[in-house]
Amino acid sequence: MFDYHMHSDFSADCDTSMEKTIESAIEKGIAEISFTEHIDYDYPDPTIVFDLDLEKYDRKIKEMQEKYRGKISIKKGVEIGVQPYLLERYEHMLEKETFDFIICSMHAADRKNLHRGDFFHNRTAEAAYELYYEEFLYCVRNFDDYSILGHLDLVKRYKSLNSDADFHDIIREIFKTIIPKEKGIEVNTSGFAYGLGSGMPSADILKLYRECGGEIITVGSDAHEASHVGRHIRETYELLASIGFKYIATFDKLEPSFHPIDRFL
Ligand SMILES: [Zn+2]
Ligand SMILES: [Zn+2]
Repeated sequence: MFDYHMHSDFSADCDTSMEKTIESAIEKGIAEISFTEHIDYDYPDPTIVFDLDLEKYDRKIKEMQEKYRGKISIKKGVEIGVQPYLLERYEHMLEKETFDFIICSMHAADRKNLHRGDFFHNRTAEAAYELYYEEFLYCVRNFDDYSILGHLDLVKRYKSLNSDADFHDIIREIFKTIIPKEKGIEVNTSGFAYGLGSGMPSADILKLYRECGGEIITVGSDAHEASHVGRHIRETYELLASIGFKYIATFDKLEPSFHPIDRFL
């Protein structure tokens, strides 16, 4: 198995050491992991600053790769929190840095925080979902410096709808934009822990991605503590296989490799 989304104490919202997380992954028989530490420029919550010490992070990853060589493969990833007005700033940073894997996530929309709920004040859930996906679409139309889109339907974690709107039209536009550019999506299995009953995105969106011709897909736990590494990954592989996906992707210096999914079932 591969776990392609996790945080350590290099992320502002996590205090687990890399060593603990790596050892937990080894115990669970995971072949390869990618740390994906947060960078969220201008995060709209003054009580937390999602900055990453890039030099120190690079040194630590190299040290961990050396220390655990032969036991597990460790990749250097990052999870950037995009918003339409921040894209250029990320381009500048990513020009100078080397990562194996880049997750493009949206943790804020309309310059407001999803996590604390500010984004949902004074708008219906339907309007909030629509604006969230519209801003995501703007970002993928104007930005290419990433490997996959993180937890695409994250907005569901914070607010449920009063209707059965599925937003497939706008999500389809997102897929039609990213697929020709050879970008992918992830399944973020933390959705189970937040009571969504599935990973993020949900199965209907995964089917839509497959129908649009999407093939590049990673699976990650979004672990912020060591025990969460690897959670729900195998069942997610089974779900993906049942939808018709053939491969799980891993990344090295932003180049994807494809591993037949049936090997894990
Ligand atoms: Zn995230
Ligand atoms: Zn994350």
